[in-house]
Amino acid sequence: MPVSRLTKIIATIGPASNEPEIIKGLIEVGTNVFRINCSHSDLKTRANVIKTIRELSRNAKKEIGVLLDLQGPKIRVGKLKNSSILLKDKAKVILSSESIIGDEQKFQVVNFEKIINELKPSHRVLLDDGKIELNVVGKINDEVECQVVYGGELKDGKGVNLPDSDLKDVITLTEKDIVDLNHGIENNVDLIALSFVRSAKDITVLKNHLPNKSFIKIIAKIEKPQAVKDLENILDVADGIMVARGDLGVELSPEKLPAIQKKLIQRANEKNVLVITATQMLESMINFPKPTRAEVSDVANAIFDGTDAIMLSGETASGKYPILAVETMHKIALEAESVAPRYRHDVKTTQENLARSACELAERVKASAIATFTLSGNTAKLASKQRPPVKVVALTQNEMVSRQLSLCWGITPILLMDVHDTETMMNLVEKTLLEHGLIKKGEIVIVTGGLPIAARGESNFVKIHKCEGKF
Ligand code: PEP
Repeated sequence: MPVSRLTKIIATIGPASNEPEIIKGLIEVGTNVFRINCSHSDLKTRANVIKTIRELSRNAKKEIGVLLDLQGPKIRVGKLKNSSILLKDKAKVILSSESIIGDEQKFQVVNFEKIINELKPSHRVLLDDGKIELNVVGKINDEVECQVVYGGELKDGKGVNLPDSDLKDVITLTEKDIVDLNHGIENNVDLIALSFVRSAKDITVLKNHLPNKSFIKIIAKIEKPQAVKDLENILDVADGIMVARGDLGVELSPEKLPAIQKKLIQRANEKNVLVITATQMLESMINFPKPTRAEVSDVANAIFDGTDAIMLSGETASGKYPILAVETMHKIALEAESVAPRYRHDVKTTQENLARSACELAERVKASAIATFTLSGNTAKLASKQRPPVKVVALTQNEMVSRQLSLCWGITPILLMDVHDTETMMNLVEKTLLEHGLIKKGEIVIVTGGLPIAARGESNFVKIHKCEGKF
C-alpha cells in the first residue's frame, strides 16, 4: 500500500514544467493540484497544459485538480528604455499613468489612474517585491513625484505595491481577468484564485461572473492588509483562502507573517474553509537540488499550523528541479504529519455534527477509513476539517468535485458511477476501497451518506461497516 500523504501539494506550471514529460513526473511524485498563473502564461499554452494534465492524470488514474490564478488588479511598472533602468538612492523620479517608454526620470505605472488621488506625501511605493523603495513627495498635475529611498535596477513589468493606500477605487476584475476567467471556465478548470482581494465584495463580484449553478470553487488570495482585516467576511463567502506570503510580506513587514499565517489557518479551519500556504516554501530549490534547513522547517511548520495544502511557485514553474522539489516537499510532509497536532474545532450545524460523529466513531471502533458518499463534496470536507485519525475516502459522481477534493487535507477522492440502492452503496464501498488498496478484508469502515438515495439530499446517516469482501 503506498504511503499516503495527508497534506496536499500544489505545483505551479511554468516554462520549467509545461512539457508533458515533466507534468507526468510531477504527477508520479504526488502533485495533487496544478496551478496555472495567468500573470505569466498565454491562452493557447494554458489550454494545451490543461488538456495534457487531464490526459496524464486519467492515465495515472489519479484525481488531479487545476487551479487558475487570476492576476487581478495588479499594479506594475510599464515599458522601460532597454527594458531596465537604474534608480539611485535619493534621486527623484516621476510615476505616471501615461503609456510612455520609461527612464530614470519618469516611468509608467500600469493600473495607476484610480490610485493617484489616494497617494499622499510620505506614502511608500515598493517596486519588485519591495527590493526598491520610493517615498511619495507630492503630486504634479496627474503625476506623482517620488524620492528613491532604497534604489536598484528596475526591470519592466515588475510589481508595484502601495502598502499605505486602501486602493478603494481599483476594480476587482480587469479586462484581462475577464478574458482569462471565461477561457478558464471553457477549459473546465476546477478552482479559481483571485489576486489582490481587498474585501469579501471582491469574491462576490467574481462569483457573479460564474455561470449559473457552476461547481467551480473560489480561492481568495490573502495578500493585502485590508484582506487580513476583512478575513471573517471573506471566509463567509470564499471556498478557500491562500496565505499568499509573497505580496503579503511586501505589504506588511515580513516579521508579522508567521503570526498572521497561524491566525489565517486557524480561522479557515474553524470555519471549514480550505486553506493553502504559499510562496518561497522551498525557494532555494529554484537553483539547488537541496532545500535549506529553514525551508524544511517552514514547510513542516505550515503543516503543524494545520494547513490543508502547501504550494510551490518558482520552484516548479521556473526552477531547475521541479520534480525533485515536489518529491522533497512530499518527504517533509510525511515526516511532519507523523507528529503534527490534529486540532478538532467545535461543531454547530447538523452536517458538521454528522462529520464529527463519523470521526469520533472511527477513533472508537478503530476503523481503517471513513467513506463518504458526497454530491457536492461538503460532507467529505467537513470530516477532513475535523482532522480524523484515518483517511477520508470521498465517493462522488461529479468529476469536478472529485478533482477539487484532491486539495483537501486527508481526502482520497474517487469517482463513482451512479448508485441506486442502499445495498449497492455498501457493496460499492467495500469493492472500491479494497480495489484501491485503501482497506483490507475484515477491517472496519465508517460510511456516511444521504438516504433515501433518490432524494439526493444532505448526508443523514453514519454506519459502522465491516468489510467481509462478499460483493
Ligand atoms: C504571493 O504573492 O504569495 C502569491 C502566491 O501570488 P503570486 O504568485 O501571484 O505573486
